[in-house]
Amino acid sequence: MPILVMKFGGTSVATLDRIKRAAKRVGVEVAKGYDVIVIVSAMSGETNKLVGFVNETSPLFDAREYDAVVSSGENVTAGLMALTLQEMDVPARSWQGWQVPLKTTDTHAAARIVEIPTENITAKFEQGMRVAVVAGFQGIAPDGRITTLGRGGSDTTAVAFAAAFGAERCDIYTDVDGVYTTDPRICEKARKLDKIAFEEMLELASLGAKVLQTRSVELAMRYNVKLRVLSSFEEQSDDAGTLVCDEEEIMELNVVSGVAYSRDEAKMTLISVADRPGIAAAIFGPLSEAGVNVDMIVQNISEEGRTDMTFSCPTDQVRRAEKAMTDAKAAGEINFHDIVADEGVAKVSVVGIGMRSHAGVAAKMFKVLSDEGINIKVITTSEIKISVLIDRKYMELAVQALHDAFELEKAA
Ligand code: ADP
Ligand code: ASP
Ligand code: MG
Repeated sequence: MPILVMKFGGTSVATLDRIKRAAKRVGVEVAKGYDVIVIVSAMSGETNKLVGFVNETSPLFDAREYDAVVSSGENVTAGLMALTLQEMDVPARSWQGWQVPLKTTDTHAAARIVEIPTENITAKFEQGMRVAVVAGFQGIAPDGRITTLGRGGSDTTAVAFAAAFGAERCDIYTDVDGVYTTDPRICEKARKLDKIAFEEMLELASLGAKVLQTRSVELAMRYNVKLRVLSSFEEQSDDAGTLVCDEEEIMELNVVSGVAYSRDEAKMTLISVADRPGIAAAIFGPLSEAGVNVDMIVQNISEEGRTDMTFSCPTDQVRRAEKAMTDAKAAGEINFHDIVADEGVAKVSVVGIGMRSHAGVAAKMFKVLSDEGINIKVITTSEIKISVLIDRKYMELAVQALHDAFELEKAA
């Protein structure tokens, strides 16, 4: 029988009633003749709560134990979903990551999927089971310990299962009815897109649009998974939601197709670093080893052999970054006068494939922000995106002003 993957995010399984609603959606697909693999997230708020427990217990936590704790939310919803389906007389069984087994690297808290053997679940389908409910976000490292795939990782579990099982489609059910030109929660003029190109979705996701985890889009692109984002709260037709697809399948092409933001950014500056060959490696090597995800980097012009080095990272990694830098200084590997953290910044980005062939997008973006009196602290660009770091208090204003200026409420 053809296989369908259906993923339900945190809000879609937040209560027993919502699990029931989601299970009914699954029942509809089973009745159409699909064998269904359901991927569930933890109940909304649950993973945040668990992460909070870990941080409070151990601020510079051991990532193995972080994974042991934060992976547990999904175990609850997987079992409850299987029970709900059984109550509806749909033959269903739950699977935790290690039972599949979903094999990952040992990069705890940010593991990558290595392999999903299909035998166990396929055998159950052959025996008459109609729904395999799999706990999202979690897997097992080569040494047998539980891993997690990074925040939002259930999306990646879903796409990886769709690829491994050759599913007809991977439907991501969430609390919005598709991918929008920007987050509809902060910009009421945001417009739902019927289709979005993999590459644009990849940029939007990696720049902060939570609606899909970046890695899930990468996998869908690589394995040609038919990926759809839709609402679990509305009755759905077969063409509902947003299809993430190849660029060639899209007729409307705006120069800018979306605005993304990332709220919890920090800007860190090492003041008066000795400017010598190898200094960047001496700074960013230890940061990477400490698990700090450095994003933007700026090195000032040096004066008398000394310079300031600025980089951005997520706010919850500031303490790790400070420790890595003070340790490197104590070990004599680097030398700086001071380290300053600005934890009140956010990143706002505009994305669009059309930028490849249109000049002037950056200039327009800077003008819009300047007209709003918003100061830009750091800029980075690539072929299809421009990102700026600004004070967090202006983030929503910046998103709305850019959405207006690039007329994203109108289709091309
Ligand atoms: P889930 O729990 O279902 O995985 P998430 O909270 O991870 O849901 O992702 C959905 C959220 O992503 C939406 O509620 C919305 O606020 C946010 N979001 C950010 N950018 C976008 C966008 N461009 N289009 C749609 N949703 C977006
Ligand atoms: N529950 C995990 C998180 O909140 C994984 C997910 O929902 O995708 O990050
Ligand atoms: Mg999510």
